[in-house]
Amino acid sequence: MEQVTLTGQSSRLKMAGATLMLVALTAAAGWGIYAVPAPVVDRMLESDLRKSAMQMSRQVESHLYDLGETFRFHALTEHDEEFLELLPVTSDIYRFKLFDAAGQVFWSTRTSDVGTVNTKPYFQSTVAAGGLYYKHEEKPIAEVDFFGASNPEDTGLSSRHVAEVYTPIIRDATFLGAIAFYSDITDLRNLFITRVRLSLAVLSGVALLALSTVILIVHRTNRRQVRDLRTRTNKERELMDEQLRLAREVRLLGELNEWLQSSRSLDELFDMVARFMTHILPEAEGSVYVYSNSRDVLDGCASWNGGAHKAHIHPEGCWGLRRGRTYEFGVSEIDFVCEHAEPHDGRRYFCFPILAHGETVGLLHLRAIEGREDCFNKSRKLAQLCAEQISVAIANVRMRDQLHDQSVRDPLTGLFNRRHMTETLRKSINRSQQTGAALSLIAVDVDHFKKFNDTHGHDAGDMVLRAVGAALEQGCDRDEIACRIGGEEFMLILPDNSPEDAMTRAEHLRQAVEAVTVRYGEKALPRITISVGVAHYPAHGTMPQDLMRAADDALYVAKDKGRNQVQVACGAKNQTKHTPPESQQPSTDAA
Ligand code: GH3
Ligand code: MG
Ligand code: MG
Repeated sequence: MEQVTLTGQSSRLKMAGATLMLVALTAAAGWGIYAVPAPVVDRMLESDLRKSAMQMSRQVESHLYDLGETFRFHALTEHDEEFLELLPVTSDIYRFKLFDAAGQVFWSTRTSDVGTVNTKPYFQSTVAAGGLYYKHEEKPIAEVDFFGASNPEDTGLSSRHVAEVYTPIIRDATFLGAIAFYSDITDLRNLFITRVRLSLAVLSGVALLALSTVILIVHRTNRRQVRDLRTRTNKERELMDEQLRLAREVRLLGELNEWLQSSRSLDELFDMVARFMTHILPEAEGSVYVYSNSRDVLDGCASWNGGAHKAHIHPEGCWGLRRGRTYEFGVSEIDFVCEHAEPHDGRRYFCFPILAHGETVGLLHLRAIEGREDCFNKSRKLAQLCAEQISVAIANVRMRDQLHDQSVRDPLTGLFNRRHMTETLRKSINRSQQTGAALSLIAVDVDHFKKFNDTHGHDAGDMVLRAVGAALEQGCDRDEIACRIGGEEFMLILPDNSPEDAMTRAEHLRQAVEAVTVRYGEKALPRITISVGVAHYPAHGTMPQDLMRAADDALYVAKDKGRNQVQVACGAKNQTKHTPPESQQPSTDAA
Protein backbone atom coordinates (compact mmCIF):
# COMPACT_ATOMS: atom_id res chain seq x y z
CA MET A 1 0.00 0.00 0.00
CA GLU A 2 2.85 2.32 0.90
CA GLN A 3 4.42 1.61 -2.46
CA VAL A 4 1.16 2.41 -4.23
CA THR A 5 0.78 5.65 -2.27
CA LEU A 6 4.30 6.56 -3.23
CA THR A 7 3.58 5.72 -6.85
CA GLY A 8 0.41 7.83 -6.66
CA GLN A 9 2.34 10.69 -5.08
CA SER A 10 5.08 10.44 -7.69
CA SER A 11 2.42 10.49 -10.44
CA ARG A 12 0.91 13.65 -8.94
CA LEU A 13 4.37 15.18 -8.61
CA LYS A 14 5.11 14.35 -12.25
CA MET A 15 1.82 15.94 -13.29
CA ALA A 16 2.61 19.08 -11.30
CA GLY A 17 6.08 19.10 -12.90
CA ALA A 18 4.58 18.69 -16.36
CA THR A 19 2.12 21.54 -15.74
CA LEU A 20 4.96 23.75 -14.55
CA MET A 21 6.96 22.80 -17.61
CA LEU A 22 4.00 23.70 -19.84
CA VAL A 23 3.64 27.08 -18.15
CA ALA A 24 7.38 27.68 -18.56
CA LEU A 25 7.24 26.61 -22.21
CA THR A 26 4.24 28.88 -22.82
CA ALA A 27 6.09 31.79 -21.24
CA ALA A 28 9.22 30.97 -23.26
CA ALA A 29 7.15 30.69 -26.43
CA GLY A 30 5.54 34.08 -25.66
CA TRP A 31 8.92 35.65 -25.12
CA GLY A 32 10.26 33.92 -28.28
CA ILE A 33 7.30 35.09 -30.35
CA TYR A 34 7.95 38.64 -29.18
CA ALA A 35 11.74 38.71 -29.30
CA VAL A 36 12.88 36.31 -32.03
CA PRO A 37 11.19 37.70 -35.22
CA ALA A 38 12.86 41.17 -35.31
CA PRO A 39 16.52 39.98 -35.61
CA VAL A 40 15.48 37.18 -37.98
CA VAL A 41 13.52 39.56 -40.18
CA ASP A 42 16.40 42.06 -40.08
CA ARG A 43 18.77 39.34 -41.28
CA MET A 44 16.40 38.40 -44.10
CA LEU A 45 15.93 42.01 -45.13
CA GLU A 46 19.67 42.68 -45.01
CA SER A 47 20.30 39.78 -47.36
CA ASP A 48 17.57 40.96 -49.76
CA LEU A 49 18.62 44.58 -49.65
CA ARG A 50 22.27 43.71 -50.26
CA LYS A 51 21.23 41.75 -53.37
CA SER A 52 18.95 44.45 -54.70
CA ALA A 53 21.60 47.13 -53.97
CA MET A 54 24.11 45.14 -55.96
CA GLN A 55 21.63 44.86 -58.84
CA MET A 56 20.82 48.54 -58.75
CA SER A 57 24.48 49.39 -58.52
CA ARG A 58 25.12 47.31 -61.66
CA GLN A 59 22.12 48.99 -63.28
CA VAL A 60 23.58 52.43 -62.49
CA GLU A 61 27.00 51.33 -63.73
CA SER A 62 25.53 50.08 -67.04
CA HIS A 63 23.35 53.14 -67.58
CA LEU A 64 25.95 55.83 -66.96
CA TYR A 65 27.55 57.13 -70.07
CA ASP A 66 31.10 57.01 -68.81
CA LEU A 67 31.52 55.48 -65.36
CA GLY A 68 35.17 56.49 -64.94
CA GLU A 69 34.53 60.07 -65.94
CA THR A 70 31.47 60.34 -63.74
CA PHE A 71 33.16 59.14 -60.54
CA ARG A 72 36.55 60.71 -61.20
CA PHE A 73 35.37 64.12 -62.35
CA HIS A 74 31.75 64.19 -61.15
CA ALA A 75 30.71 64.44 -64.81
CA LEU A 76 27.14 63.44 -65.55
CA THR A 77 25.36 63.70 -68.83
CA GLU A 78 21.78 64.93 -69.07
CA HIS A 79 20.68 61.44 -69.81
CA ASP A 80 22.58 60.21 -66.72
CA GLU A 81 20.78 62.67 -64.48
CA GLU A 82 17.38 61.77 -65.87
CA PHE A 83 18.07 58.12 -65.18
CA LEU A 84 19.33 58.82 -61.69
CA GLU A 85 16.33 60.99 -60.83
CA LEU A 86 13.94 58.32 -62.01
CA LEU A 87 15.58 55.60 -60.00
CA PRO A 88 13.89 56.34 -56.59
CA VAL A 89 10.54 56.57 -58.34
CA THR A 90 10.84 53.12 -59.90
CA SER A 91 12.19 51.39 -56.77
CA ASP A 92 11.80 51.18 -52.96
CA ILE A 93 14.67 53.54 -52.56
CA TYR A 94 13.83 56.91 -51.20
CA ARG A 95 17.29 58.37 -51.51
CA PHE A 96 20.55 57.50 -53.11
CA LYS A 97 23.92 59.22 -53.40
CA LEU A 98 27.01 58.92 -55.54
CA PHE A 99 30.39 59.27 -53.80
CA ASP A 100 33.74 59.71 -55.38
CA ALA A 101 36.75 57.74 -54.14
CA ALA A 102 37.41 60.38 -51.46
CA GLY A 103 33.92 59.94 -50.04
CA GLN A 104 32.53 63.23 -51.34
CA VAL A 105 28.92 63.22 -52.48
CA PHE A 106 28.77 64.49 -56.02
CA TRP A 107 25.14 63.54 -56.76
CA SER A 108 22.18 62.90 -54.45
CA THR A 109 18.42 62.76 -54.59
CA ARG A 110 18.67 65.34 -51.83
CA THR A 111 20.68 68.15 -53.30
CA SER A 112 21.75 69.42 -49.88
CA ASP A 113 23.90 66.32 -49.51
CA VAL A 114 26.02 67.25 -52.55
CA GLY A 115 29.44 68.31 -51.45
CA THR A 116 29.33 66.54 -48.10
CA VAL A 117 32.05 64.03 -47.38
CA ASN A 118 31.57 60.63 -45.76
CA THR A 119 34.37 60.43 -43.26
CA LYS A 120 33.03 57.35 -41.44
CA PRO A 121 35.71 54.65 -41.02
CA TYR A 122 33.63 51.97 -42.84
CA PHE A 123 33.84 53.97 -46.04
CA GLN A 124 37.60 53.64 -46.35
CA SER A 125 38.00 50.33 -44.50
CA THR A 126 35.13 48.41 -46.13
CA VAL A 127 33.68 50.18 -49.14
CA ALA A 128 37.00 51.49 -50.55
CA ALA A 129 38.36 47.93 -50.10
CA GLY A 130 35.62 46.66 -52.45
CA GLY A 131 33.25 45.44 -49.79
CA LEU A 132 29.57 46.15 -49.48
CA TYR A 133 28.53 48.00 -46.38
CA TYR A 134 25.08 47.57 -44.88
CA LYS A 135 23.69 49.66 -42.08
CA HIS A 136 20.28 49.45 -40.41
CA GLU A 137 19.11 52.03 -37.91
CA GLU A 138 16.08 53.86 -36.66
CA LYS A 139 16.02 57.40 -37.82
CA PRO A 140 13.77 60.31 -36.81
CA ILE A 141 10.97 60.67 -39.28
CA ALA A 142 12.23 64.10 -40.36
CA GLU A 143 15.37 62.60 -41.80
CA VAL A 144 13.43 60.29 -44.08
CA ASP A 145 12.29 61.43 -47.52
CA PHE A 146 9.12 59.95 -48.82
CA PHE A 147 7.47 59.56 -52.13
CA GLY A 148 3.95 58.71 -53.11
CA ALA A 149 0.64 59.47 -51.36
CA SER A 150 1.20 58.02 -47.96
CA ASN A 151 2.97 60.17 -45.46
CA PRO A 152 4.91 58.12 -42.87
CA GLU A 153 3.87 60.69 -40.27
CA ASP A 154 0.29 59.43 -40.65
CA THR A 155 1.31 56.19 -39.00
CA GLY A 156 1.83 58.04 -35.75
CA LEU A 157 5.43 56.81 -35.53
CA SER A 158 8.21 59.22 -34.62
CA SER A 159 10.94 57.17 -36.23
CA ARG A 160 11.45 54.90 -39.23
CA HIS A 161 13.64 51.89 -39.83
CA VAL A 162 16.12 52.80 -42.51
CA ALA A 163 18.58 50.53 -44.33
CA GLU A 164 21.64 52.12 -45.95
CA VAL A 165 23.66 50.07 -48.42
CA TYR A 166 27.00 51.30 -49.79
CA THR A 167 28.13 49.50 -52.92
CA PRO A 168 31.65 50.13 -54.23
CA ILE A 169 32.31 51.09 -57.89
CA ILE A 170 35.48 49.41 -59.08
CA ARG A 171 36.86 49.51 -62.54
CA ASP A 172 40.12 47.86 -63.55
CA ALA A 173 40.82 47.12 -59.89
CA THR A 174 40.58 50.78 -59.06
CA PHE A 175 38.11 52.09 -56.52
CA LEU A 176 36.26 54.85 -58.29
CA GLY A 177 33.68 55.66 -55.66
CA ALA A 178 30.47 54.28 -54.14
CA ILE A 179 26.71 54.47 -54.39
CA ALA A 180 24.56 54.65 -51.22
CA PHE A 181 20.96 53.41 -51.35
CA TYR A 182 18.56 54.43 -48.56
CA SER A 183 15.45 52.33 -48.13
CA ASP A 184 12.61 52.85 -45.66
CA ILE A 185 12.02 49.24 -44.53
CA THR A 186 9.65 50.06 -41.69
CA ASP A 187 6.44 48.75 -43.26
CA LEU A 188 8.05 45.73 -44.84
CA ARG A 189 9.89 44.93 -41.66
CA ASN A 190 6.72 45.27 -39.57
CA LEU A 191 4.77 43.14 -42.01
CA PHE A 192 7.42 40.43 -41.95
CA ILE A 193 7.69 40.55 -38.18
CA THR A 194 3.93 40.23 -37.83
CA ARG A 195 3.88 37.26 -40.23
CA VAL A 196 6.77 35.54 -38.47
CA ARG A 197 5.15 36.19 -35.12
CA LEU A 198 1.89 34.78 -36.36
CA SER A 199 3.65 31.71 -37.78
CA LEU A 200 5.59 31.25 -34.57
CA ALA A 201 2.41 31.69 -32.52
CA VAL A 202 0.62 29.07 -34.60
CA LEU A 203 3.58 26.70 -34.45
CA SER A 204 4.02 27.22 -30.72
CA GLY A 205 0.29 26.74 -30.16
CA VAL A 206 0.33 23.50 -32.12
CA ALA A 207 3.49 22.35 -30.35
CA LEU A 208 2.09 23.23 -26.92
CA LEU A 209 -1.19 21.57 -27.76
CA ALA A 210 0.63 18.44 -28.91
CA LEU A 211 2.79 18.49 -25.80
CA SER A 212 -0.24 19.01 -23.53
CA THR A 213 -2.00 16.13 -25.26
CA VAL A 214 1.01 13.87 -24.81
CA ILE A 215 1.35 14.89 -21.16
CA LEU A 216 -2.36 14.32 -20.60
CA ILE A 217 -2.24 10.90 -22.25
CA VAL A 218 0.85 9.93 -20.27
CA HIS A 219 -0.74 11.20 -17.08
CA ARG A 220 -3.98 9.32 -17.70
CA THR A 221 -2.09 6.14 -18.55
CA ASN A 222 -0.04 6.57 -15.40
CA ARG A 223 -3.16 7.17 -13.35
CA ARG A 224 -4.81 4.05 -14.73
CA GLN A 225 -1.69 2.05 -14.05
CA VAL A 226 -1.50 3.41 -10.50
CA ARG A 227 -5.18 2.57 -10.00
CA ASP A 228 -4.66 -0.94 -11.37
CA LEU A 229 -1.58 -1.38 -9.22
CA ARG A 230 -3.47 -0.15 -6.16
CA THR A 231 -6.35 -2.53 -6.81
CA ARG A 232 -3.94 -5.40 -7.36
CA THR A 233 -1.96 -4.54 -4.25
CA ASN A 234 -5.13 -4.32 -2.17
CA LYS A 235 -6.27 -7.69 -3.45
CA GLU A 236 -2.87 -9.21 -2.73
CA ARG A 237 -2.91 -7.63 0.74
CA GLU A 238 -6.36 -9.05 1.44
CA LEU A 239 -5.24 -12.44 0.19
CA MET A 240 -2.14 -12.33 2.34
CA ASP A 241 -4.15 -11.22 5.39
CA GLU A 242 -6.57 -14.06 4.79
CA GLN A 243 -3.72 -16.55 4.47
CA LEU A 244 -2.07 -15.22 7.62
CA ARG A 245 -5.39 -15.45 9.46
CA LEU A 246 -5.92 -19.00 8.27
CA ALA A 247 -2.35 -19.98 9.19
CA ARG A 248 -2.86 -18.50 12.66
CA GLU A 249 -6.17 -20.30 13.08
CA VAL A 250 -4.68 -23.59 11.96
CA ARG A 251 -1.76 -23.11 14.36
CA LEU A 252 -4.05 -22.19 17.28
CA LEU A 253 -6.40 -25.07 16.52
CA GLY A 254 -3.42 -27.41 16.44
CA GLU A 255 -2.23 -26.09 19.79
CA LEU A 256 -5.74 -26.28 21.24
CA ASN A 257 -6.03 -29.86 20.06
CA GLU A 258 -2.67 -30.79 21.55
CA TRP A 259 -3.50 -29.25 24.93
CA LEU A 260 -7.00 -30.67 25.04
CA GLN A 261 -5.70 -34.14 24.25
CA SER A 262 -3.32 -33.92 27.19
CA SER A 263 -5.96 -32.83 29.71
CA ARG A 264 -6.63 -35.46 32.37
CA SER A 265 -9.99 -34.35 33.64
CA LEU A 266 -13.01 -32.43 32.41
CA ASP A 267 -12.26 -29.60 34.85
CA GLU A 268 -8.77 -29.22 33.44
CA LEU A 269 -10.15 -29.44 29.93
CA PHE A 270 -12.66 -26.63 30.51
CA ASP A 271 -9.92 -24.45 32.00
CA MET A 272 -7.92 -24.91 28.81
CA VAL A 273 -10.96 -24.26 26.63
CA ALA A 274 -11.63 -20.98 28.43
CA ARG A 275 -8.02 -19.85 28.01
CA PHE A 276 -7.73 -20.85 24.37
CA MET A 277 -11.09 -19.48 23.29
CA THR A 278 -10.20 -16.05 24.72
CA HIS A 279 -7.15 -16.17 22.50
CA ILE A 280 -8.60 -17.78 19.36
CA LEU A 281 -11.85 -15.81 19.27
CA PRO A 282 -11.20 -12.56 21.12
CA GLU A 283 -14.34 -11.09 19.54
CA ALA A 284 -16.61 -13.59 21.30
CA GLU A 285 -17.60 -14.17 24.88
CA GLY A 286 -18.52 -17.76 25.57
CA SER A 287 -19.56 -20.53 27.89
CA VAL A 288 -19.65 -24.34 27.92
CA TYR A 289 -22.35 -26.58 29.34
CA VAL A 290 -22.22 -30.38 29.77
CA TYR A 291 -25.12 -32.77 30.33
CA SER A 292 -25.43 -33.93 33.91
CA ASN A 293 -25.46 -37.68 34.60
CA SER A 294 -29.24 -37.58 34.87
CA ARG A 295 -29.34 -35.87 31.41
CA ASP A 296 -32.30 -33.72 32.37
CA VAL A 297 -30.17 -30.55 32.67
CA LEU A 298 -26.82 -29.27 31.49
CA ASP A 299 -24.32 -28.00 34.05
CA GLY A 300 -22.41 -24.77 33.38
CA CYS A 301 -18.72 -25.69 33.31
CA ALA A 302 -16.77 -22.66 32.10
CA SER A 303 -17.08 -19.17 30.63
CA TRP A 304 -14.61 -16.63 29.25
CA ASN A 305 -14.04 -13.19 27.80
CA GLY A 306 -16.73 -11.56 29.93
CA GLY A 307 -19.28 -14.31 29.33
CA ALA A 308 -21.14 -15.88 32.26
CA HIS A 309 -22.53 -19.38 32.56
CA LYS A 310 -25.63 -20.38 34.48
CA ALA A 311 -25.38 -23.21 37.02
CA HIS A 312 -27.86 -25.34 35.06
CA ILE A 313 -29.80 -24.95 31.83
CA HIS A 314 -32.59 -27.05 30.32
CA PRO A 315 -31.93 -28.68 26.96
CA GLU A 316 -35.38 -27.68 25.69
CA GLY A 317 -34.45 -24.03 26.29
CA CYS A 318 -31.72 -24.11 23.63
CA TRP A 319 -32.64 -24.07 19.92
CA GLY A 320 -29.28 -25.60 19.03
CA LEU A 321 -29.83 -28.60 21.33
CA ARG A 322 -33.49 -28.94 20.39
CA ARG A 323 -32.79 -29.02 16.68
CA GLY A 324 -29.54 -30.98 17.03
CA ARG A 325 -27.49 -28.53 14.96
CA THR A 326 -25.75 -25.17 15.19
CA TYR A 327 -28.15 -22.33 15.93
CA GLU A 328 -27.20 -18.81 14.78
CA PHE A 329 -29.11 -15.97 16.34
CA GLY A 330 -29.21 -12.76 14.31
CA VAL A 331 -29.00 -14.25 10.81
CA SER A 332 -32.66 -14.65 9.84
CA GLU A 333 -35.37 -12.04 9.86
CA ILE A 334 -37.20 -13.95 12.55
CA ASP A 335 -35.11 -15.30 15.43
CA PHE A 336 -35.99 -16.76 18.77
CA VAL A 337 -33.75 -16.21 21.75
CA CYS A 338 -32.64 -19.33 23.65
CA GLU A 339 -33.65 -19.47 27.31
CA HIS A 340 -30.06 -19.74 28.48
CA ALA A 341 -29.12 -16.59 26.47
CA GLU A 342 -31.54 -14.41 28.48
CA PRO A 343 -31.33 -11.55 29.32
CA HIS A 344 -30.56 -10.79 25.70
CA ASP A 345 -29.58 -7.43 24.19
CA GLY A 346 -29.89 -8.37 20.50
CA ARG A 347 -26.24 -9.26 19.93
CA ARG A 348 -25.49 -12.14 17.55
CA TYR A 349 -24.73 -15.51 19.08
CA PHE A 350 -24.05 -19.13 18.15
CA CYS A 351 -25.05 -22.35 19.93
CA PHE A 352 -22.94 -25.33 18.90
CA PRO A 353 -24.13 -28.71 20.26
CA ILE A 354 -21.10 -30.69 21.43
CA LEU A 355 -21.23 -34.22 20.10
CA ALA A 356 -19.20 -37.18 21.28
CA HIS A 357 -19.52 -40.51 19.49
CA GLY A 358 -22.83 -39.44 17.97
CA GLU A 359 -24.28 -38.42 21.33
CA THR A 360 -24.90 -34.80 22.35
CA VAL A 361 -22.82 -34.25 25.46
CA GLY A 362 -22.95 -30.49 25.82
CA LEU A 363 -23.24 -27.00 24.38
CA LEU A 364 -20.74 -24.35 23.29
CA HIS A 365 -22.35 -20.90 23.42
CA LEU A 366 -20.58 -17.91 21.80
CA ARG A 367 -21.85 -14.33 21.78
CA ALA A 368 -20.42 -11.31 19.91
CA ILE A 369 -18.63 -8.78 22.08
CA GLU A 370 -20.21 -5.36 21.71
CA GLY A 371 -18.73 -3.43 18.80
CA ARG A 372 -16.97 -6.45 17.32
CA GLU A 373 -19.91 -8.03 15.54
CA ASP A 374 -18.27 -7.81 12.10
CA CYS A 375 -15.32 -9.93 13.22
CA PHE A 376 -17.67 -12.26 15.07
CA ASN A 377 -19.71 -12.96 11.92
CA LYS A 378 -16.56 -14.01 10.11
CA SER A 379 -15.48 -16.37 12.87
CA ARG A 380 -18.37 -18.82 12.57
CA LYS A 381 -16.32 -21.42 10.72
CA LEU A 382 -13.48 -21.22 13.22
CA ALA A 383 -15.95 -21.44 16.10
CA GLN A 384 -17.45 -24.55 14.54
CA LEU A 385 -13.98 -26.11 14.29
CA CYS A 386 -13.34 -25.25 17.95
CA ALA A 387 -16.64 -26.85 18.95
CA GLU A 388 -15.65 -29.99 17.07
CA GLN A 389 -12.27 -30.12 18.78
CA ILE A 390 -13.85 -29.57 22.17
CA SER A 391 -16.32 -32.37 21.38
CA VAL A 392 -13.52 -34.78 20.53
CA ALA A 393 -11.60 -33.78 23.66
CA ILE A 394 -14.66 -34.28 25.90
CA ALA A 395 -15.26 -37.68 24.31
CA ASN A 396 -11.63 -38.61 24.94
CA VAL A 397 -11.66 -37.53 28.57
CA ARG A 398 -14.93 -39.37 29.14
CA MET A 399 -13.60 -42.50 27.50
CA ARG A 400 -10.43 -42.26 29.58
CA ASP A 401 -12.57 -41.80 32.72
CA GLN A 402 -14.64 -44.82 31.75
CA LEU A 403 -11.56 -46.94 31.07
CA HIS A 404 -10.05 -45.81 34.34
CA ASP A 405 -13.30 -46.57 36.13
CA GLN A 406 -13.40 -49.95 34.52
CA SER A 407 -9.86 -50.65 35.69
CA VAL A 408 -10.53 -49.63 39.32
CA ARG A 409 -14.20 -50.52 39.77
CA ASP A 410 -16.01 -53.78 40.20
CA PRO A 411 -18.67 -54.06 37.50
CA LEU A 412 -21.27 -55.83 39.67
CA THR A 413 -21.39 -53.48 42.66
CA GLY A 414 -19.67 -50.37 41.27
CA LEU A 415 -17.36 -50.44 44.31
CA PHE A 416 -13.59 -50.13 43.92
CA ASN A 417 -11.79 -53.39 43.12
CA ARG A 418 -9.00 -55.16 44.98
CA ARG A 419 -6.21 -53.49 42.96
CA HIS A 420 -7.47 -50.01 43.76
CA MET A 421 -8.01 -50.98 47.38
CA THR A 422 -4.41 -52.16 47.79
CA GLU A 423 -3.08 -49.01 46.17
CA THR A 424 -5.27 -46.77 48.28
CA LEU A 425 -4.32 -48.65 51.42
CA ARG A 426 -0.65 -48.18 50.61
CA LYS A 427 -1.18 -44.45 50.13
CA SER A 428 -3.24 -44.21 53.32
CA ILE A 429 -0.51 -46.01 55.30
CA ASN A 430 2.12 -43.63 53.89
CA ARG A 431 -0.02 -40.68 54.84
CA SER A 432 -0.59 -41.99 58.36
CA GLN A 433 3.12 -42.67 58.67
CA GLN A 434 3.86 -39.08 57.81
CA THR A 435 1.05 -37.38 59.72
CA GLY A 436 0.39 -39.85 62.51
CA ALA A 437 -3.29 -39.92 61.56
CA ALA A 438 -5.35 -42.94 62.62
CA LEU A 439 -6.21 -45.61 60.06
CA SER A 440 -8.41 -48.72 60.27
CA LEU A 441 -9.19 -51.50 57.86
CA ILE A 442 -12.44 -53.42 57.95
CA ALA A 443 -12.84 -56.87 56.30
CA VAL A 444 -16.38 -58.04 55.49
CA ASP A 445 -17.62 -61.50 54.38
CA VAL A 446 -21.23 -62.46 53.70
CA ASP A 447 -22.27 -65.35 55.89
CA HIS A 448 -23.30 -68.65 54.35
CA PHE A 449 -23.49 -67.14 50.91
CA LYS A 450 -22.89 -70.40 49.10
CA LYS A 451 -25.96 -71.78 50.67
CA PHE A 452 -27.88 -68.57 49.76
CA ASN A 453 -26.81 -68.95 46.15
CA ASP A 454 -27.73 -72.57 46.08
CA THR A 455 -31.17 -71.86 47.51
CA HIS A 456 -32.15 -68.68 45.60
CA GLY A 457 -30.02 -68.80 42.51
CA HIS A 458 -26.98 -66.90 41.32
CA ASP A 459 -28.96 -63.92 40.02
CA ALA A 460 -30.62 -63.39 43.37
CA GLY A 461 -27.16 -63.70 44.93
CA ASP A 462 -25.89 -60.95 42.61
CA MET A 463 -28.73 -58.68 43.65
CA VAL A 464 -27.87 -59.25 47.28
CA LEU A 465 -24.18 -58.52 46.62
CA ARG A 466 -25.19 -55.24 44.95
CA ALA A 467 -27.38 -54.33 47.90
CA VAL A 468 -24.58 -55.14 50.37
CA GLY A 469 -22.16 -53.05 48.27
CA ALA A 470 -24.59 -50.10 48.29
CA ALA A 471 -25.09 -50.37 52.06
CA LEU A 472 -21.32 -50.43 52.66
CA GLU A 473 -20.74 -47.45 50.34
CA GLN A 474 -23.46 -45.47 52.04
CA GLY A 475 -21.69 -46.09 55.30
CA CYS A 476 -18.53 -44.35 54.04
CA ASP A 477 -17.68 -40.73 54.83
CA ARG A 478 -15.30 -38.29 53.10
CA ASP A 479 -12.07 -40.15 52.19
CA GLU A 480 -13.33 -43.53 53.26
CA ILE A 481 -13.73 -46.11 50.52
CA ALA A 482 -15.53 -49.45 50.23
CA CYS A 483 -14.09 -52.15 47.92
CA ARG A 484 -15.19 -55.58 46.73
CA ILE A 485 -12.03 -57.64 46.89
CA GLY A 486 -13.60 -60.80 45.45
CA GLY A 487 -16.68 -63.07 45.66
CA GLU A 488 -18.75 -62.06 48.70
CA GLU A 489 -15.79 -60.39 50.42
CA PHE A 490 -15.42 -56.65 50.96
CA MET A 491 -13.00 -54.29 52.65
CA LEU A 492 -13.29 -50.70 53.87
CA ILE A 493 -10.45 -48.26 54.48
CA LEU A 494 -11.27 -45.77 57.19
CA PRO A 495 -8.65 -43.03 57.53
CA ASP A 496 -8.79 -40.61 60.48
CA ASN A 497 -10.90 -43.02 62.61
CA SER A 498 -9.71 -43.85 66.08
CA PRO A 499 -9.83 -47.60 66.91
CA GLU A 500 -12.96 -47.01 68.99
CA ASP A 501 -14.67 -45.13 66.21
CA ALA A 502 -13.67 -47.80 63.70
CA MET A 503 -15.24 -50.49 65.89
CA THR A 504 -18.42 -48.47 66.18
CA ARG A 505 -18.49 -47.90 62.43
CA ALA A 506 -17.96 -51.64 61.82
CA GLU A 507 -20.87 -52.45 64.07
CA HIS A 508 -23.05 -49.89 62.26
CA LEU A 509 -22.13 -51.50 58.95
CA ARG A 510 -23.05 -54.92 60.26
CA GLN A 511 -26.40 -53.56 61.37
CA ALA A 512 -26.97 -51.74 58.11
CA VAL A 513 -26.41 -54.91 56.04
CA GLU A 514 -28.58 -56.89 58.37
CA ALA A 515 -31.35 -54.37 57.77
CA VAL A 516 -31.13 -54.68 53.96
CA THR A 517 -34.14 -56.23 52.28
CA VAL A 518 -33.95 -57.31 48.65
CA ARG A 519 -36.92 -58.08 46.42
CA TYR A 520 -36.40 -60.66 43.73
CA GLY A 521 -39.33 -60.86 41.39
CA GLU A 522 -42.47 -61.26 43.39
CA LYS A 523 -40.86 -62.38 46.60
CA ALA A 524 -38.66 -60.72 49.20
CA LEU A 525 -35.36 -62.54 49.71
CA PRO A 526 -34.36 -63.59 53.22
CA ARG A 527 -32.11 -61.10 54.98
CA ILE A 528 -28.39 -61.77 55.08
CA THR A 529 -25.70 -61.07 57.62
CA ILE A 530 -22.02 -60.33 57.50
CA SER A 531 -19.02 -61.16 59.63
CA VAL A 532 -16.58 -58.30 60.18
CA GLY A 533 -12.90 -58.17 61.13
CA VAL A 534 -11.19 -54.90 62.09
CA ALA A 535 -7.46 -54.11 62.10
CA HIS A 536 -5.80 -50.81 63.08
CA TYR A 537 -2.68 -49.18 61.86
CA PRO A 538 -0.03 -49.45 63.22
CA ALA A 539 -1.13 -51.77 66.01
CA HIS A 540 -1.87 -54.72 63.68
CA GLY A 541 0.55 -54.04 60.87
CA THR A 542 2.45 -51.31 59.09
CA MET A 543 2.39 -52.93 55.63
CA PRO A 544 -0.79 -53.29 53.53
CA GLN A 545 -0.62 -57.08 53.38
CA ASP A 546 -0.04 -57.31 57.18
CA LEU A 547 -2.99 -55.07 57.90
CA MET A 548 -5.19 -56.99 55.46
CA ARG A 549 -4.14 -60.31 56.93
CA ALA A 550 -4.86 -59.05 60.44
CA ALA A 551 -8.36 -57.88 59.39
CA ASP A 552 -8.96 -61.24 57.63
CA ASP A 553 -7.81 -63.14 60.73
CA ALA A 554 -10.22 -61.14 62.86
CA LEU A 555 -12.95 -61.92 60.29
CA TYR A 556 -12.27 -65.67 60.61
CA VAL A 557 -12.45 -65.31 64.34
CA ALA A 558 -15.90 -63.74 63.87
CA LYS A 559 -16.88 -66.64 61.61
CA ASP A 560 -15.58 -69.12 64.11
CA LYS A 561 -17.45 -67.42 66.88
CA GLY A 562 -20.79 -67.83 65.13
CA ARG A 563 -20.78 -65.16 62.31
CA ASN A 564 -22.86 -61.92 62.15
CA GLN A 565 -20.46 -60.16 64.45
CA VAL A 566 -17.47 -57.82 64.59
CA GLN A 567 -14.04 -58.90 65.79
CA VAL A 568 -10.91 -56.86 66.19
CA ALA A 569 -7.52 -58.26 65.25
CA CYS A 570 -5.44 -59.84 67.97
CA GLY A 571 -3.04 -57.69 69.92
CA ALA A 572 -5.08 -54.48 69.71
CA LYS A 573 -5.42 -52.50 72.88
CA ASN A 574 -9.18 -52.18 72.68
CA GLN A 575 -10.24 -55.63 71.69
CA THR A 576 -13.95 -55.56 71.77
CA LYS A 577 -16.47 -58.01 70.60
CA HIS A 578 -19.72 -56.84 69.14
CA THR A 579 -22.35 -59.53 69.04
CA PRO A 580 -25.85 -59.15 67.81
CA PRO A 581 -28.80 -59.70 70.07
CA GLU A 582 -30.25 -63.23 70.14
CA SER A 583 -33.09 -62.24 67.83
CA GLN A 584 -30.66 -61.23 65.11
CA GLN A 585 -28.93 -64.56 64.50
CA PRO A 586 -27.99 -65.17 60.85
CA SER A 587 -31.06 -65.26 58.69
CA THR A 588 -29.26 -67.41 56.11
CA ASP A 589 -29.52 -70.22 58.61
CA ALA A 590 -33.22 -69.81 58.43
CA ALA A 591 -33.00 -69.85 54.62
P1 GH3 B 1 -19.04 -68.52 55.12
O1 GH3 B 1 -20.12 -68.04 56.03
O2 GH3 B 1 -18.12 -69.42 55.85
O3 GH3 B 1 -18.35 -67.45 54.50
O4 GH3 B 1 -19.78 -69.39 54.09
P2 GH3 B 1 -19.84 -69.13 52.56
O5 GH3 B 1 -20.78 -70.03 51.96
O6 GH3 B 1 -20.23 -67.67 52.40
O7 GH3 B 1 -18.41 -69.28 52.06
P3 GH3 B 1 -17.78 -69.95 50.78
O8 GH3 B 1 -16.42 -69.32 50.57
O9 GH3 B 1 -17.78 -71.39 50.91
O10 GH3 B 1 -18.73 -69.55 49.60
C1 GH3 B 1 -18.65 -68.36 48.93
C2 GH3 B 1 -19.69 -68.34 47.89
O11 GH3 B 1 -19.91 -67.11 47.31
C3 GH3 B 1 -19.35 -69.27 46.76
C4 GH3 B 1 -19.97 -68.68 45.54
O12 GH3 B 1 -21.07 -69.40 45.10
C5 GH3 B 1 -20.45 -67.35 46.02
N1 GH3 B 1 -20.06 -66.35 45.15
C6 GH3 B 1 -18.78 -65.86 44.93
N2 GH3 B 1 -18.81 -64.89 44.03
C7 GH3 B 1 -20.12 -64.70 43.65
C8 GH3 B 1 -20.77 -63.80 42.71
O13 GH3 B 1 -20.17 -62.96 42.07
N3 GH3 B 1 -22.12 -63.90 42.62
C9 GH3 B 1 -22.83 -64.82 43.32
N4 GH3 B 1 -24.14 -64.85 43.17
N5 GH3 B 1 -22.25 -65.65 44.18
C10 GH3 B 1 -20.90 -65.61 44.33
MG1 MG C 1 -15.85 -65.93 51.60
MG1 MG D 1 -18.97 -66.11 53.11
